[in-house]
Amino acid sequence: MSVRDTHMQKSKKKHDWVKRLKALTVCGAVAFGVLTCTQQFGDMPASAKTISQLEQEIKENNQKIQEQQQKLDALKQDMNKQQEAEDALQEQIKTINEKISLVDVQLTTINQQIEDTQGEIDTLEADIAQQQIDIDQGLDSFKKRLRAMYVTGNDSLASALVGSTDFYDMLSKMDLIARVADHDDKLVTGLMEQMEQLKSSKEQLVSKQNEQELQKVEQEKIRADYSDSIQELNTKVQQTKAAQAELQEEADAANKDINAYKAENASKEKEQDQIMAEIKRQQALATKQNNSQTTTVTKPDTTYSGGRFAWPVPGHYFISSPYGNRWGKMHQGIDIASGGSSISGAATVAVASGTVTLVKTGCTHNYKKTRSCGCNGGYGNYVVVTHADGYSTLYAHLASVSVSYGQTVSTGTVLGTVGSTGWSTGFHLHFGVMKNGSFVNPAPYLGI
Ligand SMILES: [Zn+2]
Ligand SMILES: [Zn+2]
Repeated sequence: MSVRDTHMQKSKKKHDWVKRLKALTVCGAVAFGVLTCTQQFGDMPASAKTISQLEQEIKENNQKIQEQQQKLDALKQDMNKQQEAEDALQEQIKTINEKISLVDVQLTTINQQIEDTQGEIDTLEADIAQQQIDIDQGLDSFKKRLRAMYVTGNDSLASALVGSTDFYDMLSKMDLIARVADHDDKLVTGLMEQMEQLKSSKEQLVSKQNEQELQKVEQEKIRADYSDSIQELNTKVQQTKAAQAELQEEADAANKDINAYKAENASKEKEQDQIMAEIKRQQALATKQNNSQTTTVTKPDTTYSGGRFAWPVPGHYFISSPYGNRWGKMHQGIDIASGGSSISGAATVAVASGTVTLVKTGCTHNYKKTRSCGCNGGYGNYVVVTHADGYSTLYAHLASVSVSYGQTVSTGTVLGTVGSTGWSTGFHLHFGVMKNGSFVNPAPYLGI
């Protein structure tokens, strides 16, 4: 059932109890109006029934709150799991980013190496160019000397060499040159050997650079793979975030429901209070009518000699607070507290036979307090038993209740256990006696 449905039912019920209360006015309630009405109409008293129904609805709402709370707990667990998954993914991303940093350091080193090698190659190329110049110059001076030789008449040899323009072509005729100019031959051969060494060094450097370029490509491939992994992980992170957002939405909805049920219960409790106030008003009215109609004078309570009621907490007889003015207010009953042994959890019993006409439960704050937690108007968990002759008895601040509405009880029937629920500064039983709807001093009825 949705919250709105419950609201609609509630307003209908409210209308019902107003009608029933009007019926109650006609029947003229005596002490909670229960017995009179039950006898006249063979029906439960309207107000008490409505209170009981409201109690039931509040219980149902509390059940729904508990269900939503369980759902909320499950959602929170799911959210925690998603958060853990996200944390794990973020941890992986962090690890891979650290690896990328290492690859970047490698790449920086490799790039530096490539640059250094290029520098060496540039230097070698400059050396090679210089060597070429040296060789060319050596050749020139050689040619000049040959020309000089030609001028002096060594014709056949000179013309053979001067005619060749290609240096390498000339080298092929080295045996000839060797015979002509042994000194120049050695010079040029030396230069040529150096040239070959330079060129070979350059080849080595170029192949070294190629290897470095290969390493660079390899590292860049690794880096690209890492980047792909991070992208995949980021996609998963987005998925967990989306899942978390969905769970959060559900949790928000559950919280909203819980708050709605709580607000509904608060208004139901207020309604119960209004009904209780109306019952008291009716009772007061009935008492007044009785008093004005009767000519016989009832025996005053002060002359009562005791023995009507049994003791409400067998084994515990310490009165911590009597009936009467207390803290500037009327204390409408007596408080029976721990004397020698602890009264907490002791059984409280019906002081006379009768019918259970009110049961209020739901208070869980069973401990002493310095102020009221407001539960059930301060009485905490309590029971009202209606007896013959217009008497009702109240047993308040109970830890637990073991009777239900409408139950017939005998003297000594256990009603519940003594506690400290509601506005209670310590474990005790607040025992009240009502006669024709008004609280009276319980002491004479208990023979004290
Ligand atoms: Zn409470
Ligand atoms: Zn009290």
